[in-house]
Amino acid sequence: MNINDLVRENIQKLSPYSTARDEFKGQASVFLDANENSFGSPLPADYNRYPDPLQLDLKEAIGRIKGVPIENTFLGNGSDEAIDLLYRAFCNPGRDNVILVPPTYGMYEVSANINDVAVRKVSLLPDFQLDLNGIAESIDANTKLIFVCSPNNPTGNSINRQDIETLLTNFKGLVVIDEAYINFSRQHTFIRELTEYANLVILQTFSKAWGLAALRLGMAFASSQIIDVLNKIKPPYNINQATQDLALEALKNVDQVNDWIKQTVAQRNALSDALTTLPLVKQVYPSDANFILVEVTDPGRIYDRLVDDGIIVRDRSKVTLCEGCLRITVGTPKENELLLERLKNY
Ligand SMILES: *Cc1c(COP(=O)(O)O)cnc(C)c1O
Repeated sequence: MNINDLVRENIQKLSPYSTARDEFKGQASVFLDANENSFGSPLPADYNRYPDPLQLDLKEAIGRIKGVPIENTFLGNGSDEAIDLLYRAFCNPGRDNVILVPPTYGMYEVSANINDVAVRKVSLLPDFQLDLNGIAESIDANTKLIFVCSPNNPTGNSINRQDIETLLTNFKGLVVIDEAYINFSRQHTFIRELTEYANLVILQTFSKAWGLAALRLGMAFASSQIIDVLNKIKPPYNINQATQDLALEALKNVDQVNDWIKQTVAQRNALSDALTTLPLVKQVYPSDANFILVEVTDPGRIYDRLVDDGIIVRDRSKVTLCEGCLRITVGTPKENELLLERLKNY
């Protein structure tokens, strides 16, 4: 499978923007090449200088934790940037299409619409697993991407590994596996399959388990051909210096993050059990993520009462296959206790 055949022709032919940092790499004492403020920055760090466009130090540090080489790593301004760039690199506006498997993360569809890429929806089955036959029937010569979110937002379940491998083997476009919630899952990441499938893209993020949603830092792992294309079309300095510095600091606290993951999983399981016993709860779906999908008797009223009590959950009751459901993020023990206390009184 030649990935470059999948890339839009204008992107194949593109000469990318060449930054001052691209044209001279290395040590020097006087930098007069980028029209920066030579006197300095009002902040203590070297913020007067443009950041490393390829974020090599940060990628190396991430690589030490994830086991992925730099050439297979892309960093974006959130996963959302990687999603957008995948559309822009591989999908011709007005001609190509992608397959989405709702209910799933809303950004895949919004990004497709922004890029004028047709969306073919193949709903998950009632058990929230892939409808492989339906997907096979929807694929045509212009289908370039399939997005699979696992663990899936908003349903919380992991997608069967075997089914994803079937897609990877048979689909002639890219299979994008969004692993935003992988740290909370019993399933393991697809990172180890990167060498096996040239058409595999894995998305991960610093926004969830890592507790850095405000920094906007997302990761894409893929074959070097795919990563090269994303690097070619990204905004030159897409990850700012403050984010690079802070993320490098955060990576030193992996033990703290792992401890939070353990606590979140324990709280998730306890909260699921407790919710099951409430009369207003009709069904608690099993979760591999840091949230729980809960079917309740009267979602609109319960949502409003929670808002009145200062507790905000997500109303997903109008979403196909999630009828009557609220999506509840796992909180601290105290927050979960408060939530349960209030729900008992409605
Ligand atoms: C939260 C979330 C993300 C994270 O997006 P960022 O842009 O990295 O904050 C990605 N995918 C899914 C499915 C999510 O729920």
